[in-house]
Amino acid sequence: MTEKLMILGSGPAGWTAAIYAARANLDPVVLEGGHIAGDLPGGQLMFTTEVENYPGFPNGVDGQEMMAAFKEQAKRFEVRIEDYTGAESVDLSQKPFKVKDSQGKDWETHALIISTGASANWLNLESEQYYRKKGLGVTACATCDGAFPRFRDKPVAVVGGGDSAMEEATFMTKFSNPVYIVHRRDEFRASKIMQERALKNEKIKVLWNSGVEEVLGDDDDGVTGMRLKDTQSGETRDVDIAGFFLAIGHTPNTAFLNGQLETDDKGYLVLTQPHGSQTSVEGVFAGGDVADSTYRQAITAAGMGCKAAIDAERWLAEQGIE
Ligand code: NAP
Repeated sequence: MTEKLMILGSGPAGWTAAIYAARANLDPVVLEGGHIAGDLPGGQLMFTTEVENYPGFPNGVDGQEMMAAFKEQAKRFEVRIEDYTGAESVDLSQKPFKVKDSQGKDWETHALIISTGASANWLNLESEQYYRKKGLGVTACATCDGAFPRFRDKPVAVVGGGDSAMEEATFMTKFSNPVYIVHRRDEFRASKIMQERALKNEKIKVLWNSGVEEVLGDDDDGVTGMRLKDTQSGETRDVDIAGFFLAIGHTPNTAFLNGQLETDDKGYLVLTQPHGSQTSVEGVFAGGDVADSTYRQAITAAGMGCKAAIDAERWLAEQGIE
């Protein structure tokens, strides 16, 4: 059997695409992901505590609850969902496209929406992952989590030396003081203008040549400090912080595509038409963070998922597949 549309990924882009596609009678299948050990289906919001910037939730909403609600809404329109299953590989060289899932099942589909997201890069310290998974002060998104009371008027650290680190540190000065930028070298790679903006902010203090050895804390208070190692002298020291923010880049989840779709120099999928969701292979559409290195918000991902479903529906109709 050949599916009309398969959707890969179950973040805001994937579920929005699924809801629109199901309501357009495309009977979509979603491979929701979460098949890699230690990961969860539902995308990056599964690791956020409260989402306060998604319109429609005046009191905020828990990230996991929000993704459960997206999924419930898709189920209401009878979207077929393959739980904890991802795409292992795809063959886009022929039509219909072929998809092999992580359970070993082979699929065929006329159209495909890629909404597999991007993953924040982590230092992968055991202590960092511990407090991250517990939602106790380690995050990779200051825009999402910075306004929480736990960081207010407390010292926090932002790790990284690129534009994101400058932006996140500058943003955090609205709430926290001081904001340490922890960088492993003695110069930033961030653009001059972003560096200058950060460096002239009196609340920001840069800890140069510093590697993070451990995030310190306990189950009651969450993060309380970090252990740094001077990359030149080798000396270690502990610094008090209430929040630990990672800004060391993101990696779009495209490995399973094996280079079959055009990507930009950072590895994000290239959308080939202005304002559209088409990728470099006709019939393959993309939405959400896998194709967006700029905005990376739940609301923008949902909007892109909507566009991908509408574009897929129109394209299938043009092919005579209703
Ligand atoms: P990035 O430019 O790749 O910078 C990553 C930073 O993290 C680098 O300073 C790097 O250190 C550091 N880093 C990487 N791995 C590390 C590790 N294991 N331990 C410690 N430090 C580590 O990433 P980004 O800042 O997220 O920016 C990504 C892209 O988005 C860039 O093109 C950027 O210009 C763009 N962006 C633009 C804006 C804006 O214009 N408003 C805002 C944000 C991002 P090294 O320098 O030593 O390699």
